[in-house]
Amino acid sequence: MAAAACSFEATETMKELREAFESGKTRSVEWRRSQLKALLKMAEFHENDILDALRSDLSKPELESLLQEIGMMRASCKVALKELARWMAPEKVNTTMATFPSSGEIVPEPLGVVLVISAWNYPFMLSLDPLIGAIAAGNAVVLKPSEISPATSSVLAKLLGQYMDCSAVKVIEGGVPETTLLLEQKWDKIFYTGNGRVGRIVMAAAAKHLTPVVLELGGKSPVIVDSNTNLKVMEEITCIYFLKVTVRRIIAGKWGCNSGQACVSPDYVITTKKFAPELVHALKSELEIFYGKDPVTSVDLSRIVNSNHFQRLSKLLEEDKVSSKIVYGGQKDINNLKIAPTILLDVPDDSLIMNEEIFGPLLPIITVDKVEDSFKILKPKEKPLAAYLFTNDKKLKEDFISNVSAGGLVVNDTTMHLAEHSLPFGGVGESGIGAYHGKFSFDAFSHKKAVLLRSFAADLTARYPPYTPQKQKF
Ligand code: NAD
Repeated sequence: MAAAACSFEATETMKELREAFESGKTRSVEWRRSQLKALLKMAEFHENDILDALRSDLSKPELESLLQEIGMMRASCKVALKELARWMAPEKVNTTMATFPSSGEIVPEPLGVVLVISAWNYPFMLSLDPLIGAIAAGNAVVLKPSEISPATSSVLAKLLGQYMDCSAVKVIEGGVPETTLLLEQKWDKIFYTGNGRVGRIVMAAAAKHLTPVVLELGGKSPVIVDSNTNLKVMEEITCIYFLKVTVRRIIAGKWGCNSGQACVSPDYVITTKKFAPELVHALKSELEIFYGKDPVTSVDLSRIVNSNHFQRLSKLLEEDKVSSKIVYGGQKDINNLKIAPTILLDVPDDSLIMNEEIFGPLLPIITVDKVEDSFKILKPKEKPLAAYLFTNDKKLKEDFISNVSAGGLVVNDTTMHLAEHSLPFGGVGESGIGAYHGKFSFDAFSHKKAVLLRSFAADLTARYPPYTPQKQKF
């Protein structure tokens, strides 16, 4: 790798950060608060710079940037500021006769100097959300944003340089050579967001130093849609309403999240053979209302991040057994890197599109005889980051929760668990290791130190040699 071309000195950066951490300043509640407040100020005063960067990298619609990037980051910051004292407080625990008389507590302490490597698809939020956890927990941090979203990477480097304590919070820009150099250092935690191939590289590098990792990866997140048979018993108008809400929420999670370039976007839909035509019809109608008759020209649809990903997605559509299954969309604008919302019905299981994470605006629908069969389809597959179910059936909801393993589950919506700070966000199996958001972010960057406080009283001699027969009876 062209490590010599890197414009920073990794060991020097580490040394500076280690010194800052060892000075103890990052541990104080005042420092943590001041840094979190500085982040909020930065987001407020430079909202337009951030929006411009996101538009330049992804032509992200402004509202999506405001809600899903800046809004989420601000919410995380505010939760951390509000809860910090409670999170930092030692947690008292009950002790037992084995240590009587004593008291016990769990004391959270910062891990030290940590590395955050983020991805291009939510380049602002995915950089700052983990950073907030790292700072709240009292660590010194290096953030390495993605080179695939260069405008946001550059704005983060500039603004964090202006607003943060640069002795303890640094941004290193760059791609593989820079990240490789960073990974050679001894970190106290590495927090990586991206694909599983690089996740393995990160984990292998971390293993050399016994560094713990959080890996926020992806996968093929399914949406199971129950047929409206359960709804038929209700008023017809309620049926129509439920179907409308279902398709709107699928669309919001797929095309309304960066044109499907989101880790928790629905990857494919499973529904019954009988219900599929009705679902496809409802999706088409609602998509036309949202994005018009010529969606590639819609300003409300993000573009594909770059031509590599555009070609990758085009290839998924080009397979003969897949292209013949398009029932809506399929239009592309190569000059503007836009792909229309595209629905495919009954694509074969051995197609490329059903065997890799789509991460774009293509939505295959596969069909089953009974909705309960969906669980059998999911069982042998890798565990996804999220799984969704739309139904009104209590038993089906219970079966979904007990049968389906994924990073997170949502019933009757998509992606919204991401916005709930009281829930951990992370994967399982191929979709990742560890979790964050809210208190879980603080925990991800803390060591929970066990502290036992013993009294000098009641010093039982039975534990001391010589181990006489009398003591053994005791
Ligand atoms: P990416 O290309 O931006 O890569 C992520 C990071 O890895 C970047 O900072 C990049 O510089 C670094 N990197 C790339 N190659 C490397 C190498 N060989 N050695 C060391 N570092 C390297 O992002 P991506 O991987 O295309 O992101 C998309 C994937 O991330 C999808 O699978 C998606 O589901 C997943 N994702 C997960 C989450 C989550 O929160 N779980 C969020 C967003 C994306």
